[in-house]
Amino acid sequence: MTAPTGTRPAATRSSASLIKAEAPVLAHNYHPLPVVISRAEGVWVEDVEGRRYLDMLAGYSALNFGHRHPALIEAAHRQLDALTLTSRAFHHDRLAGFAAALADLTGLDMVLPMNTGAEAVESGIKIARKWAYDVKGVPADRATIVVAGGNFHGRTTTIVSFSDDKDARAGFGPYTPGFRTVPYNDLPALEAALDETTAAVLIEPIQGEAGVLIPDDGYLAGVRAATTRAGCLFIADEIQSGLGRTGTTLAVDHEGVLPDLLLLGKALGGGIIPVSAVVGRRDVMSVLGPGQHGSTFGGNPLAAAVGSAVIDLLATGEYQSRATDLGKVLHAGLTDLLGNGVTAFRARGLWAGIDIDPALGTGRTLSERLLSEGILVKDTHGSTIRLAPPLTITEAELTSALSSLRRVLG
Ligand code: PLP
Repeated sequence: MTAPTGTRPAATRSSASLIKAEAPVLAHNYHPLPVVISRAEGVWVEDVEGRRYLDMLAGYSALNFGHRHPALIEAAHRQLDALTLTSRAFHHDRLAGFAAALADLTGLDMVLPMNTGAEAVESGIKIARKWAYDVKGVPADRATIVVAGGNFHGRTTTIVSFSDDKDARAGFGPYTPGFRTVPYNDLPALEAALDETTAAVLIEPIQGEAGVLIPDDGYLAGVRAATTRAGCLFIADEIQSGLGRTGTTLAVDHEGVLPDLLLLGKALGGGIIPVSAVVGRRDVMSVLGPGQHGSTFGGNPLAAAVGSAVIDLLATGEYQSRATDLGKVLHAGLTDLLGNGVTAFRARGLWAGIDIDPALGTGRTLSERLLSEGILVKDTHGSTIRLAPPLTITEAELTSALSSLRRVLG
């Protein structure tokens, strides 16, 4: 019997054979851990050989509500049966409700729906530049955007132009001009970089890829005050930090700060489809007119339905509370490991960057050891690993992951 087109005979569906089959046909822009996942539910994933793993990465926070959350799957199924795509050439019946709910959730006024995080960042940059020329009066092509060292905002040519990560940037020039980099968490340096050409300051309220770097208390309020004083915009990239991860809806909520533009992505798509957005002040968002920006898929009916269901989950406050409460368990567990293989850690809510004693191996080798314990994590730079479990994780599951970490460090 021949297998139906597009499937493989069962005998070749081993992890090893599937990993081997990827190499000649898949661009090598990732170095995944050697696990081939075929099913998932909640915080658990299963590989092709039926082994189960606890997902402590949650798609870099794209799976804040776990895999296949029933309310999100139901919303997607319902929408699949009605309407999936219109393009923005026409109106559809899900977009107004989604935009209003997102504006309401964030305390801002208007929404520009996009798909991936990088697109939201690009869109925020375009809006800020246009605002600088149309409203602030910056001379043509002179607008600057101030960014922070160690940033990660995505992978487009413009975004890597202001990255200081060699791997992300080298070989992709010529680079887009108009960005000034200042050290993260350094208010005097930030203030000194602002002038009459500054359109915006673009920062992550917590730097995720850099290793979950949490700025000093008062930094975000300081950025807000400095940008207001300088007459430029504050753009917060909450694509990884937002939507419940840190124990509040947004990471800027910890300092009661409202940016002018907010960039959201990842968890907004409920782990089902890419959904991102720029959310902002009406007077700033209003600089865009028809034809000046767009996306075939941005704000499509399926995205709007899933995004609306995500907002409904967040509106209950349950996930933010879970992140706060279980964040305390995570913090206590990591404090216990200090000096026992962990040299330092930074954590807020259910999100942690953990520096491992380099003598015990790299973040990669530790991630591989955790994999063999049935725990999925991802290393970031050098000897740092990142934990960002689904916010649906139970205390027992979290404690068991911490025990595994202790074992592999021991
Ligand atoms: N901004 C931040 C803070 C991110 O963490 C990421 C992805 O990790 C992005 C932007 C880019 O998002 P995407 O991979 O969806 O383009």
